[in-house]
Amino acid sequence: KIPNSLHASDIAHSMHPYTNMRLHEEQGPMIITRGEGVHVYDSEGKEYIEGLAGLWSVAVGFSQPRLVEAAAKQMAELPYYHTFAHKAHEPSIRLAEKLAEMTPEGMDRVFFTNSGSEANDTVIKMVWFYNNALGRPEKKKFLARNKAYHGITIASGSLTGLPANHKDFDLPAIPVTHLTCPHYWKWAEDGETEAEFTARLLKEAEDTILAEGPETIAGFIGEPVMGAGGVMTPPEGYWPGIRALCDKYDILLVSDEVINGFGRCGTPFGCEKYGFTPDIMVTSKQLTSSYMPLAAIIVNDKVYNTIADHTAKLGTFGHGFTGSGHPVACAVGLENLKIIEEQDLMGNAARLEAKFQEGLRKFADHPLVGEVRGVGLIGGIEMAKDKEKRLSFEPAGKVAPQVVKFCAEEGLILRAVYETVALCPPLIVTEEDIDQILARLGRALDRGWEWVQA
Ligand code: PLP
Repeated sequence: KIPNSLHASDIAHSMHPYTNMRLHEEQGPMIITRGEGVHVYDSEGKEYIEGLAGLWSVAVGFSQPRLVEAAAKQMAELPYYHTFAHKAHEPSIRLAEKLAEMTPEGMDRVFFTNSGSEANDTVIKMVWFYNNALGRPEKKKFLARNKAYHGITIASGSLTGLPANHKDFDLPAIPVTHLTCPHYWKWAEDGETEAEFTARLLKEAEDTILAEGPETIAGFIGEPVMGAGGVMTPPEGYWPGIRALCDKYDILLVSDEVINGFGRCGTPFGCEKYGFTPDIMVTSKQLTSSYMPLAAIIVNDKVYNTIADHTAKLGTFGHGFTGSGHPVACAVGLENLKIIEEQDLMGNAARLEAKFQEGLRKFADHPLVGEVRGVGLIGGIEMAKDKEKRLSFEPAGKVAPQVVKFCAEEGLILRAVYETVALCPPLIVTEEDIDQILARLGRALDRGWEWVQA
């Protein structure tokens, strides 16, 4: 058992991300001491199913010995070297090769960063560099969507379309326009069919491009399935329509696969699920199962060749991080992808999709629930006071966190995103684990309903 002083010390000295700091001073931390498979254990010894795979990321589960060994071996051999200015080492070479093999045809060049946010910052700079290389410096703006999550640095946080990430941080700080969130249940007009909704969103995107001037719009970025904004799956036809608009107006399409990538949606990448090929892909999280911080940007030949030609002119690509392609992170990433392949974890997600999604949809008639949505092994349950009118409980943003608290008491860690309870279990889950997740969630929802009525 961890002595209480650890709790006291945390309260006294730590500033936690995404935390109400004053509330934290009152209630203190939940200290996680170890993990095993789909489970983690707190300092009181209580066991939980990690229903969000940490932060949507621990694909292979906790304490996977092969990843520990891969890290230790690389630490002993070459704990660090950089990849600046023609230097290279085997782990980053092998991982880049593996990513080129896994990603769609023609996407063969990989740039490493330490986090998804840094990766999206890098993408913005790459897209700007690309347009400068083509002699069109005015083509700099991005299109993103409301409720998108692309990170929290000044530039990637600008692409993010969530008010909490902008408010009082003086963002956006780069030129970006946020379009309507492609979430049919929430944003469709009364009587609008899904096809009409898609057509309206595509028209909005095209009208925006034309109003701002196609010569000023450089990139469109989106998560195939939106994650941290509340798990929103796109309406039919949306992504092929966006791809066509990007082609028509010479806009680079960026698929942010930080959550979707490596099997989460039942296909290797989210873009494959929704039938489009981007120009640039961004991956992280399940790339190393988050055992080490690492992100990878994969670009197509068109982007690579334009950038590479320009570096030949300028003498360099003046961008990179001390940790770009960190050997230990890359060794862990490579071993992690091997495990995903050998254990067919992407296939596991596809095989368990029906059980997981149908199990979640059984809660659609629960009195707390407005909508259940998801694909593969990612899901969201949105709370609503009135399903038909899509009205939240008042005050908004209170019910889902309360349900998540009840889930934790029932031995299931999930995350509340506004009025949505998000689920994203490790890809190693079994049918029995899914039964447990659904049973615990069901009890938490019932307790939530009693709580709302009290
Ligand atoms: N992009 C997406 C889709 C994400 O979900 C996240 C993080 O949740 C990021 C980017 C940012 O990644 P990081 O937290 O590693 O900076």
